[in-house]
Amino acid sequence: MAKIMAVNAGSSSLKFQLLDMPKELLITSGIVERIGMKDSIFMIKLNGEKIEETKDIANHSEAVKMLLEKLIDLKIISSFDEIEGVGHRVVHGANVITDSCIITEKEIEVLESIVDLGPLHLIPNLTGIKAFREVLPHVKQVGVFDTAFHQTMAEEAFLYAVPYEWYERYQVRKYGFHGTSHKYVSERTAEILRKKPEEINIIVCHIGNGASICAVKQGKSVDTSMGFTPLEGIPMGTRSGSIDPAIVEYMMNKKNKSSKEITNILNKQSGYLGVSGLSSDSRDLVEASSKGNHRAQLAIDIQAKRIVDYIASYYVYMGGVDAIVFTAGIGENAAPTRENIINRLGVLGAKIDTERNNCRGVERLISADDSKIKVFVVPTNEEVMIARDTMKLTHH
Ligand code: AMP
Repeated sequence: MAKIMAVNAGSSSLKFQLLDMPKELLITSGIVERIGMKDSIFMIKLNGEKIEETKDIANHSEAVKMLLEKLIDLKIISSFDEIEGVGHRVVHGANVITDSCIITEKEIEVLESIVDLGPLHLIPNLTGIKAFREVLPHVKQVGVFDTAFHQTMAEEAFLYAVPYEWYERYQVRKYGFHGTSHKYVSERTAEILRKKPEEINIIVCHIGNGASICAVKQGKSVDTSMGFTPLEGIPMGTRSGSIDPAIVEYMMNKKNKSSKEITNILNKQSGYLGVSGLSSDSRDLVEASSKGNHRAQLAIDIQAKRIVDYIASYYVYMGGVDAIVFTAGIGENAAPTRENIINRLGVLGAKIDTERNNCRGVERLISADDSKIKVFVVPTNEEVMIARDTMKLTHH
């Protein structure tokens, strides 16, 4: 048995899970928040119980040290040597890192050279990797990349119709994100269907605060809705999804704002929040719309229409689909939103079973027996995917 740590480092947070591999059993999980601020919060879950501590944690290295000491204090491990690998979620590998890999000095340099492509996430990801390297110098660090699964897209799917030089010199292309989730969910769906991934075509709808749709043809991503950045695609909690790019300059002039300010609005004040004027949280919108709030319903409907646009397009692109799968916060929990989407797909023969659909956070078939496409809810598990790849790369 091996203990593997799966890590997701944000700018002021560090989420972790310790897994017993290859059994894929969760030993413990937790999060450090407000790193670098006053009153940082350290939380670890043990046997279903939350243990919390508030204390100033100056940086990610301190957070990692505290985490490891806690693991010893709580007798989860008896020495640091028990951790045989640390897997990091990394948002971007660009064209250069196309699969999970061991992170050495060379990979760190590569990631630093592409930081421009996703600074918001890549900088904290690198900080997390460096912190673990510093505190656990003898333990192998593995990077698992959100973009990697989508590296199988064809040129016609990943290139934008802009001057080719933008791609050649500046790496402007569709990368796609949530790859680890799309991969996990599509592989799990194949297992449920008792098929090999190569035998089926699946559309994965990862709908959480961030959201993307992925066309998985015979086990490989052939298209996905997020693009050069996670802003493209369907509307999300606070992101607009795709819009006419000419709106940016028009609104810069109208509001006398910089392109940076407008982009910030498209990232942080649009989507569910922008349309409803109420909340970015799907629970609030589902509740408000059930009480007749028009703009809450509109925010949900705009998203549902766009999701259906992608599903229809991927159905045609892949030449048919065996299953449509919902995952992430909204996909796993919001039954009315799933029903709203599937009801729009009647022309493809997809049919929801409302009773089966009345579920939350469980793996389940939710389509009717006479549905031409099977529809599932499959809870995502990016950490298991990270731990699997870390195990593979550190134990061979
Ligand atoms: P994620 O980013 O995957 O954590 O998903 C977050 C989203 O899931 C938020 O919009 C939540 O409101 C939504 N969510 C979680 N539970 C429910 C629920 N019971 N009903 C509707 N939406 C939910």
